[in-house]
Amino acid sequence: MDVTRGMYERLIAGATMAGTPLLMAHVMACILALAYAESAEEGGDAGELCGLAGHELDEVAHLVFGGTGLPDGAGRKGAPGAPEMDLRAILMMHAASACRSEMLLSAMIARRALRPNHLWQDLGLSHRGELSELMRRHFPGLARRNAQDMKWKKFFYRMMCSAEGFTLCAAPVCTECDDFEDCFGAEDGEALLARMANGKWLSSSQPLQGGMA
Ligand code: SF4
Repeated sequence: MDVTRGMYERLIAGATMAGTPLLMAHVMACILALAYAESAEEGGDAGELCGLAGHELDEVAHLVFGGTGLPDGAGRKGAPGAPEMDLRAILMMHAASACRSEMLLSAMIARRALRPNHLWQDLGLSHRGELSELMRRHFPGLARRNAQDMKWKKFFYRMMCSAEGFTLCAAPVCTECDDFEDCFGAEDGEALLARMANGKWLSSSQPLQGGMA
């Protein structure tokens, strides 16, 4: 069994004991497994790659995964930048129960959204459907607002811009816009954890198919 898969399975076992909702546990375990793998492969701090400070990593281990020990990952240094904080705030504001686990999940998603691939890929998920289900379950207000199924990063950026009184849009309506494919096109691509399990890796400086989306 590869190390990343082993870590994922230990985390899920701990989450089951802790009674954590399965989808939340799955997504957070995928993010952690991918961040630790990136750290081993590319360097960098695993906590930093998840957007969590050291004490928040400990919190995740205890609160979500029932005290499952995480490999050393020192944690984020300093405060996140403004766009990341804005996205965190949007996610937190729309969290289903506003519990501590959803706050930590929001921080992790906001940091992973800075990565270069489709958001579902940089969360370590198997396909886009898992991200859409996560949004419906844990951020239902955002899922409702994205009823047109815009690419999630595009949707977040558009929300952040409109909150600041700006617009990213080049046309008054999407159907007349040259950027339609950028906003609504398919979010296909290879799952990063599966790719690694097959012994392949791409540097984060080389976005996979789809790029920012
Ligand atoms: S397709 Fe064009 S108008 Fe619609 S959200 Fe994207 S940029 Fe804005």
